[in-house]
Amino acid sequence: MNGIIALADIHRLKVWLPIRSLAYVNVYLINEDANSWLIDSGMLSSKSILSLAKGLREVGKDLCSIDNVILTHFHVDHSTMTVLLSETSNPKVFIGRVDMEIAKGKVDEFVDAAISLFLEHGMPKEEAKMIRESHPAIKLLDAYKDLDTVEMVPLDDGDTLKIGELNLKVVWTPGHTPGHIVLWDEKSGIMFVGDTMLLEITPHVTIHYWETDPLGDYMNSLRKIIELKPKVAYPGHRDIIKDPVKRAKELLEHHENRLNEVVEILKRFGPLTGYEIAKRIKWRVRYRTWDEYPYPERFFAMGEALAHLRKLEREGLVEQRQRGSLKIWTLRRA
Ligand SMILES: [Zn+2]
Repeated sequence: MNGIIALADIHRLKVWLPIRSLAYVNVYLINEDANSWLIDSGMLSSKSILSLAKGLREVGKDLCSIDNVILTHFHVDHSTMTVLLSETSNPKVFIGRVDMEIAKGKVDEFVDAAISLFLEHGMPKEEAKMIRESHPAIKLLDAYKDLDTVEMVPLDDGDTLKIGELNLKVVWTPGHTPGHIVLWDEKSGIMFVGDTMLLEITPHVTIHYWETDPLGDYMNSLRKIIELKPKVAYPGHRDIIKDPVKRAKELLEHHENRLNEVVEILKRFGPLTGYEIAKRIKWRVRYRTWDEYPYPERFFAMGEALAHLRKLEREGLVEQRQRGSLKIWTLRRA
């Protein structure tokens, strides 16, 4: 009863996405007697619908037999399939309270807040416009509008959901989104981590409102996970994480290194705009020049660069000055 049995009841369904860099989202099906639970739902796209239907059929379920859905966060590839499921199965839908507020009618406002930061930090208008139009959330805005009509149950930090052998405790882990949650079963050591931790790729952390510090939040969320010492983590993408504590430490180190890289860039080339810094960071991508970056990837790069600058600003290591309509970054003078 130490988690082995609970493990057997968890089915990982690979739900394919029309997003090449991610390939698929992991949807977890947990059966509890007659009740079936999904953790995350997939994206409202034909590719995802077909693979979810097939995955469910292989374990004796279908799109009409889902009783509950828990969303780790509001992102399009995890949440929007819920719109279809609410028509086919009408499940009870749970989501972290903070992400529920964004999912309910505020997604475009949220993306636009990031785009206006990009402009303030030096991205050319035309490029920012293209990035907005190619953003997956903006492309699926209709699905989000429908998601707005789906009734949701907000989850708070410390809430517990009992599913068969599992007592899943809700742990707030902001950073990847402001209201991201992970689900933690202390007895078995199983944690469903959504996009807080992934293998091979680093979860995206961006900034939408300057008064927030999403990277600081994200790094604290990783530290929270390290303290809980999960034995196995079920992520939103890629393979199961067999040593979650090690992975959390690697991700913390990755961001420490990136923070140092930004400081080094300013030392060598500053003063610079956030846009100029984003272009100089050595992202792990196969593109040689900025012009080769597809627009959605530019959203990630620019957002990450600003999230790192914001954290460094909070730490008192860098500062921004207004030059005309632009913000210019320098190292902070002692
Ligand atoms: Zn995500």
